[in-house]
Amino acid sequence: MTVKSVSVATSTKRGQSAAERRRQIAERGQQVVELYGSGMSVADVAKRTGCHPQTARADLGDAGVLIRGTNKPQTTSRTCERDGCENVFRPTPAQLRKGFGKYCTRACDHEAHRIHPQAEERVCARDGCEERFTPTGSNVAMGWGKFHSKRCSALSTDAHRRKKGREVECRNCGKTKWRYDSTIGAGFCSHECWGKYRWRNRGETISPDVVSLVRGSARQKWYGRWNAHKGAAAGIEGGREGGRPAKATKKQAAKCWSLHGEGRSTREIAAIVFGDARYKDRVARIVRR
Ligand SMILES: [Zn+2]
Ligand SMILES: [Zn+2]
Ligand SMILES: [Zn+2]
Repeated sequence: MTVKSVSVATSTKRGQSAAERRRQIAERGQQVVELYGSGMSVADVAKRTGCHPQTARADLGDAGVLIRGTNKPQTTSRTCERDGCENVFRPTPAQLRKGFGKYCTRACDHEAHRIHPQAEERVCARDGCEERFTPTGSNVAMGWGKFHSKRCSALSTDAHRRKKGREVECRNCGKTKWRYDSTIGAGFCSHECWGKYRWRNRGETISPDVVSLVRGSARQKWYGRWNAHKGAAAGIEGGREGGRPAKATKKQAAKCWSLHGEGRSTREIAAIVFGDARYKDRVARIVRR
């Protein structure tokens, strides 16, 4: 593309009338806006019109043209269109291009398009539930929104009231829980409790599914039990000899216990007693006993 030389003299010349000068400036300004509008950069426009880039910039500013690719805001401020919201904000250029940017926030947008009036805070309708909650407007319009949770709703149905149940005490952990008559079964609160009960009281083995074997200590302990090793592996005091000798002396172990009682972390205890926080696992083994 050949650079078309534009002879718009902008320097003041002796003997030039003021009117002539004004005309020249106006002409240059027009040229700058046109060239910039065609996609040229400010520097190129300045080169083409023979003025300083700052001058070209000033011309664009006077004409109200926004400079591309600057940090200067590309849009003007406006007030949120929602009734009752006075927030002044500036939409993004992309929003304006798509015809958005009417509301200051997403919340205001939603509020402006609200179909049902906003509901008031209320108390859950289930007997014995004191939970306060705010239902959605549409829920109230549908005649719903009485219970704070699906659980409370289910417990308030006639089908539930017809069901019979009672408080049952777990035979393993002793926790009481309200159960339907149909689900009381053997009287345990959970499958885990049932497994523990079998191990303690009936001498039955426990399936690996019941016990997590993620930790090494769990593997060591429970695999021993499945293989009927009763002794140290099963945590029985004075039982089978085994394992590597304890690294910590009795005094150190006692120190660990007292610090553990103070609520220190295993890392802190290890640093104090063994001189290095990396002995945290040793502390954990002592404290677990
Ligand atoms: Zn708003
Ligand atoms: Zn409730
Ligand atoms: Zn239990």
